[in-house]
Amino acid sequence: MAWDVILIGAGHNGLVAANYLAKAGRKVLVLERRNIPGGQLVTESFGEGFSVDALHASAQLRPDIVADLGLRIEASRAGAAYTCLLDGGKRLVIDADPARARAAIAEFSARDAERWPEFVAFMDRAAAFLDATYRTAMPRLPHFALREGLPLAGLLWKLRRLGGRDMFRVVRAMSMSAEEFTGDWFESAALRAAVSALAIHGVTLGPMSAGTGFTLMHNWLNRGGLAHRPIAGGVGTITAALIDALKSRGGEVRTAAEVRNVMIDGQRARGVRLASGEEIAASCVISAADPRHTFLQLVGAAELPPEFVWQAQSIKLRGCVAKVHVEADGRHGLPEGTLALAPSIRYLERAYDAAKYGEISAQPYLEVTTSGNVVSIHFQFAPYALRHVDWEAARAVVEQRAIDTLDAYCPGFKAAVARVHTITPRDLESDYGLSEGDLNHGQLILDQIFFMRPLPGWSKHATPIDGFYLCGGGVHGGGGISGASGRNAAKVLLS
Ligand SMILES: Cc1cc2nc3c(=O)[nH]c(=O)nc-3n(C[C@H](O)[C@H](O)[C@H](O)COP(=O)(O)OP(=O)(O)OC[C@H]3O[C@@H](n4cnc5c(N)ncnc54)[C@H](O)[C@@H]3O)c2cc1C
Repeated sequence: MAWDVILIGAGHNGLVAANYLAKAGRKVLVLERRNIPGGQLVTESFGEGFSVDALHASAQLRPDIVADLGLRIEASRAGAAYTCLLDGGKRLVIDADPARARAAIAEFSARDAERWPEFVAFMDRAAAFLDATYRTAMPRLPHFALREGLPLAGLLWKLRRLGGRDMFRVVRAMSMSAEEFTGDWFESAALRAAVSALAIHGVTLGPMSAGTGFTLMHNWLNRGGLAHRPIAGGVGTITAALIDALKSRGGEVRTAAEVRNVMIDGQRARGVRLASGEEIAASCVISAADPRHTFLQLVGAAELPPEFVWQAQSIKLRGCVAKVHVEADGRHGLPEGTLALAPSIRYLERAYDAAKYGEISAQPYLEVTTSGNVVSIHFQFAPYALRHVDWEAARAVVEQRAIDTLDAYCPGFKAAVARVHTITPRDLESDYGLSEGDLNHGQLILDQIFFMRPLPGWSKHATPIDGFYLCGGGVHGGGGISGASGRNAAKVLLS
């Protein structure tokens, strides 16, 4: 047998898992359907001089993963500001420097400015606890051995050590809406909207939805705060570092190698068959593709227990993000850092309302990052399943609304637009392999996290097929860019 392990998908989780396995002496092959590796961690060119981080605007792998794998990754730039665009030409600039952030917040509320450092410290502690949760294997409820309960007991002890007040705050916040949670902390509408925008970033939820307290913590953890921390050379440099490290350990990455199905014999994975018809044998197979696609397309219902198939069919995927990249002619006039168009909680909730009815937000929540002349606009909400129009016609609508809305808050922007490249939720599915355009391989909602991710009882990376595992963002530890689910899966396989 040529390969010990085949990884399906060269996103960062697949590459992290591959590196841990290769480091442990396994012979590893990573197969990627696209012509370029990286999954959502790609720096791509959309024309001469129009190179951009196509999807994710910044990324940080967990520091222990960087250290374990000896990755050579440029430190991301801290210190960038998070600027909220408000009505009436006002702006709330939340700087990474606490003193400057407090001064800016004080213009809206002296009380909130006082509370800001305490809030940041609390969010950092809550994020650290969430990180510990993502490292902890969840038990297979309702039946689990005592030994499986020990890590959970350790986690509860960590929660207890947060102290009486924070312990309850963290647990309560998870099920709260961002609107309620920010209301517990702040009185200023502008600041509450600024924080709530991060809570709904990348998910099909509004700031009044239950569980956006949890998504706030999740995004805070993965981003390291409110603002993106861009990396010199773009996020693709992380992918390149992972691939270099893998090659130096004897692993291999093949692009333009779409896996059609996992070869299974006697309830055991034996390798994969590519779309080209080529068959590649391996002792183990790990999929970094989303769990629903993995189970229903790559494995197939015939190989799985009926109840498991039903559960896999029920995984909720809800893409709602489009990305509009604009090459400007040098006069876009936008400040550095992360810009959030989130004037109020009500504005954000109304933007989300459209998605409930299969419509594109007329007044969208935008998050904007700039890199030289290129302006990247994250557009929410643009639902994958549109009700009255198809995505080919809707592409122009998203493009226009993104540019017009940003121009309304940053006058002069539109006049600087030279070239545009738009990625719709349909493109996310067809080009980037994300079923229903769902960035997280499954919505980050309360009934799809922790021991219920990807399916109740199956959060420990193993599957009903022997020798077949999951390691992508749809498993406990994901989504987001962190490498946690890739690392965890490799550890399970090695143990
Ligand atoms: C615009 C945007 C904003 C985001 N913002 C946030 C955020 O704020 N917070 C957050 O937590 N997360 C966010 N995310 C989500 C985050 O980027 C993902 O959760 C993460 O990148 C998933 O990484 P992955 O390695 O698990 O999967 P991916 O990067 O999706 O990689 C999976 C790979 O598998 C490949 N593949 C699929 N099927 C096959 C097959 N049959 N054969 C071979 N290869 C296959 C795909 O082509 C892909 O390369 C955002 C994503 C986007 C796009």
